[in-house]
Amino acid sequence: MTRLDTEIKKLSIPTPYAVGDVNVYVIKGEALTLVDAGPRTHEGKEVLEKSLRDLGLLISDFDQIVLTHHHPDHAGGIDFFPEQAIVFGHAYNQRWLELTAEFRAELDQFYLNIGKELGVPEEKAASMNNYRGSGGYISKRTVQSYLKEGDEIPGLFGWQVIETPGHAQSHISLFRERDGVMIGGDHLLNKISPNPILEPPFSPAESRPEPLNQYNNSLRKWLEVPISLTLTGHGGDISETRKLIRHNLARQHGRAMRVKQMLEAKSQTGFEICKQLFPKVYHRELGLTISETVGQLDYLEGLGEIKKEDQNGIYMYSVHS
Ligand SMILES: [Zn+2]
Repeated sequence: MTRLDTEIKKLSIPTPYAVGDVNVYVIKGEALTLVDAGPRTHEGKEVLEKSLRDLGLLISDFDQIVLTHHHPDHAGGIDFFPEQAIVFGHAYNQRWLELTAEFRAELDQFYLNIGKELGVPEEKAASMNNYRGSGGYISKRTVQSYLKEGDEIPGLFGWQVIETPGHAQSHISLFRERDGVMIGGDHLLNKISPNPILEPPFSPAESRPEPLNQYNNSLRKWLEVPISLTLTGHGGDISETRKLIRHNLARQHGRAMRVKQMLEAKSQTGFEICKQLFPKVYHRELGLTISETVGQLDYLEGLGEIKKEDQNGIYMYSVHS
């Protein structure tokens, strides 16, 4: 097992979300770097400051912050850092961090349209938009310098960016070839399977991203990387990364086959499938459960196992005969 050198410190920060604590990482490179910043909450800031103090550090000491993705439990805390600390991240963070009126309107329209296609009742479609209620936790700062596939992170010698879209379109992971350490954000977690979350396309003319298919591709991409240890965004480290990836891919295939079985009985809408997959939580967590359902349907379509038919604007999914 790879032991972490003294350059990397893991801090655990409480969040107001069901997922629990988020991990952020201090890297003492040429530039003092924090990977992810925790949520924008008083408690989050207090714990971050205290944990840094234990390391002899202050928030004002940091040269830069690198975001693995835009979700508020990872990105909200960038607001606590002074202007001179540069925020790095993928360009796709920006629309979520800026959250302009225009993008909010685009989001509402996107969920309305996709809700209609999936047969979600109109009065429920708005609740698919997870960002509606989380305004208070979203940072006011945004990304100042963009990172993309293959970039070496400035100030962090030997750390390379690997794009891992799926859980979020903005998702990147950071890999250090020297010892095989991967800082993985929410791409792969112990005990929790990260939700591939539906997001609108980057221009209205494009078709929407297929988050689960992307996610699986990003997992397979990691199989090609000589990872010795994965440092996660939530929970413990992962020492057997490849084994966990294979396990998760197989389990997800099994879940998709259950969806196929439901469609063997009769053709159905996405919303009908969602209710069967998540009978207890779908009404409370419609955004996440619909994302998961759409992911499985995209996956089965990609395999040629099922097809969809447009019936007056609503997709009916059925098994390929
Ligand atoms: Zn996340």
